[in-house]
Amino acid sequence: MSFLSTQQRQVLAELCQQNDTPFYVYDLDKLEAHLTTLTSQNVVKLWYAVKANPLSEIIKTLDKCGFDFDVASSGELNQVLGQGIDAKRVLNTGPAKSKKQIQHFLSKGVRTFVAESHNQVAWLNQAASEHNITLQILLRVQLRWPDSEKNPLGGDSLTPFGLGIEDWATLNITDFPALDFAGLHIFQWGNMLSSDKLAELWRAMIAPLQNLSAQLGFKLRILDLGGGLGIPYTANDQHLVWPQLLDALDNIKQSVGCEELWMELGRYAVGEIGFYANPVIEQKQNYGANQLIVAGGINHILRPAVTNQAFPAELLRQSSEATKSFLVHGPLCTALDSLGEFSLASDINETDWLIFAQCGAYGFTESMPYFLCHELPAEYTFKQGQISCVRQPETADYYLR
Ligand SMILES: *Cc1c(COP(=O)(O)O)cnc(C)c1O
Repeated sequence: MSFLSTQQRQVLAELCQQNDTPFYVYDLDKLEAHLTTLTSQNVVKLWYAVKANPLSEIIKTLDKCGFDFDVASSGELNQVLGQGIDAKRVLNTGPAKSKKQIQHFLSKGVRTFVAESHNQVAWLNQAASEHNITLQILLRVQLRWPDSEKNPLGGDSLTPFGLGIEDWATLNITDFPALDFAGLHIFQWGNMLSSDKLAELWRAMIAPLQNLSAQLGFKLRILDLGGGLGIPYTANDQHLVWPQLLDALDNIKQSVGCEELWMELGRYAVGEIGFYANPVIEQKQNYGANQLIVAGGINHILRPAVTNQAFPAELLRQSSEATKSFLVHGPLCTALDSLGEFSLASDINETDWLIFAQCGAYGFTESMPYFLCHELPAEYTFKQGQISCVRQPETADYYLR
């Protein structure tokens, strides 16, 4: 099974002939078709979690397909506004909102915020009063279940995202007249591949969230369920079924009785339309194992090292040789630079390219490009038969001081 369509393979082959260093390429036709499916419904309002991939051309495609934008830093905000998107279509989520960042967001026209602490609530209220405006606020909740009960969220690990029910319960919303408390936000799971499991999680959260909004004294008009919709990273993984998810979401919406359901999608929106092409340096045998050394590693594509989950990889060239298992290593002088173990044609050599798929999300900007002073990868898009270079490859000269 291949993660590449025939057309994607042709585009990659053409680009590999023109390049001798690693690069990313994004299939914008496939992206547009996928996003159009996601937004053709009236159950859930969709935001794009910009951290998944902030490339201008990706943001423009999401804009065209009816997504609004969830940003977590001034840099992400400026990038979204730079594509001509109105600040009224921006939501600000994230655990670190300094007074300075809040001022920046308000001055740019952002009016919708997910508050993750008592200080954030107070600082947002203060800044809104100064500007003589009202902000729409969702409180981010971090849920736990009593030890004795089955915890549908899995572990009880503490994160900096939002606050627990009891920690929010002391908030007196009448102290913040410049804030319109419109709803609650919850998101504490990742890369889910089962529609049933997701539906179960969502259902389990309804009662505690309804209790909290009643206790705080506001109507739960908006429920934001975050992201966490998964994509397959191996040929055997299952795929989420979007119509099935919509049914589950519609049921949640009815049970909660809220006006709007929101989600911010990252991986599920853009993950499957990106590829990372990587020149092979050599193969070698070591203590009985087959090792493949490639030109780009976690300096360009860090995620395997931090999640222990490889992106799927295949050889660009069609080879009739039998396959062997190879351990694939990048160029960095650290054992961390490992991209996974793959079954590949045994004649793979220094003229070949490895293509990593499912790299549209958490690729380029999630990496560690400065370590060991290798070049930065180029970024290309492919749209209606046209290949465009959005970023040229760059040597380390531009950032070394
Ligand atoms: C990262 C993030 C998302 C997107 O997560 P995915 O798993 O990529 O869908 C959504 N919401 C918030 C608040 C996030 O930080």
